[in-house]
Amino acid sequence: MDPNCIFCRIIIGDATASIVHQDDEVIAFHDIHPAAPIHILIVPLVHIPSINQVSEENDQIIARMFRVAKQLAAKNGIDESGFRLIINSGLDANQTVFHLHLHLLGGRPMRYPMG
Ligand code: AMP
Ligand code: ZN
Repeated sequence: MDPNCIFCRIIIGDATASIVHQDDEVIAFHDIHPAAPIHILIVPLVHIPSINQVSEENDQIIARMFRVAKQLAAKNGIDESGFRLIINSGLDANQTVFHLHLHLLGGRPMRYPMG
């Protein structure tokens, strides 16, 4: 828990979010500035700043993030039409919140190339 971290504050209920899933390892909520019709963030409950800090003890959390993404894609009706999962890491990737999160984007054709 980092009191200066907006996602930690959402997790402890100190800041509001439109929460769509919560379990013992992850929380998911709508992105406040959606970049697509469906834009959900899947966030571990523990404060891990980025992929750079992930260790072997986080293996289960990382797997849970992806399984919840799959569930939320189906729940939002974009499992068949398609969706994109993104993790930004560091400044070149435009990471702005330094609490690990997986973006689930869908509901329209994604643009390509990605970079
Ligand atoms: P990233 O650029 O990968 O670090 O993504 C951070 C994302 O968090 C951005 O898409 C923001 O719009 C989103 N975001 C920031 N603050 C909030 C918030 N309070 N509730 C929901 N989404 C947020
Ligand atoms: Zn945090």
